[in-house]
Amino acid sequence: MIRNGLVDSIGNTPLIRLKRASEETGCEILGKAEFLNPGQSVKDRAALGIIKDAVARGALKPGGVIVEGTAGNTGIGLALVAAPLGFRTVIVIPETQSQEKKDMLKLAGATLVEVPAVPYSNPNNYVKLSGRLAEAMAKTEPNGAIWANQFDNVANRQAHIETTGPEIFEQTDGKVDGFICAVGTGGTLAGIAIALKERNKAIQIGLADPPGAALYSYYTTGELKAEGSSITEGIGQGRITANLEGAPIDTAFLIPDEESVPVVFDLLQHEGLCLGGSSGVNVAGAVRLAKEMGPGHTIVTILADYGTRYQSKLFNPEFLRSKSLPVPEWLERTVEVPN
Ligand code: PMP
Repeated sequence: MIRNGLVDSIGNTPLIRLKRASEETGCEILGKAEFLNPGQSVKDRAALGIIKDAVARGALKPGGVIVEGTAGNTGIGLALVAAPLGFRTVIVIPETQSQEKKDMLKLAGATLVEVPAVPYSNPNNYVKLSGRLAEAMAKTEPNGAIWANQFDNVANRQAHIETTGPEIFEQTDGKVDGFICAVGTGGTLAGIAIALKERNKAIQIGLADPPGAALYSYYTTGELKAEGSSITEGIGQGRITANLEGAPIDTAFLIPDEESVPVVFDLLQHEGLCLGGSSGVNVAGAVRLAKEMGPGHTIVTILADYGTRYQSKLFNPEFLRSKSLPVPEWLERTVEVPN
């Protein structure tokens, strides 16, 4: 099958059986291979959905500028989709994000604005700053500018309602019993949850939350409360975004780095899957959901982005030691070359 350019190459990703997670639980644990999207992450779908919606509403005009605050992957998706459609992108990113993501954003053609990482409550938080920048550029840019606003623009979750959710249902012949993933904007979890529940209300929806996020507390006690911290990037939300509003979530798990990081290493060492830290949270979450539901179930999660994006952090022994996380033996393995 020939795909018509980059835009047509987003989505329709394979479902990959995760051998060790399946054997451990007696369930069929399947990973939706979103790292195989052209921008190497699940966020290509949201980027395309947001751009298509803005064009359809007449807000984004030929030659216009797309402004966004992003931890990286959404920006990469926006920049790649913008190029063939004739738009420019300006990305506001917290300085703390991995250098690899910043480099890729530049390669993809985005103009970068790096800002200090401050909480959402601060007016100079990267998300709020990107909104103000978009407003200013809308007045000065000859072809106008829009704010993608991935957190509260529901065109984000709509992309998953229309594509990722139905794909998962069809690829499992409707046999999916459970779905779980972590939340950044909530577009992926809420969109897939809505699409799956529309097809079968009995499908169990789980949230996998890293420490430092407030949603595990919210979905278990009703109170938004965050404790601890995590090295994972792109996930960990402290509020109910518009994308999360009304998401049908049945169960939630808190997944510490000590549990999720070894999963990332195991997936690479034993299954050849090179993934970022949020995928470790997702697969560890799928294992927890499988244990809660019992053997014989089909559980789907998201393999969210490609691991090369985190070589300087997640796959760097010095960084891991500085966070008191275990360093896998193979990461430092050497071989003596005979004379
Ligand atoms: N994993 C990674 C690596 C991401 O970049 C993101 C998005 N920030 C997510 C997971 C979460 O996806 P969503 O924004 O749809 O909740």
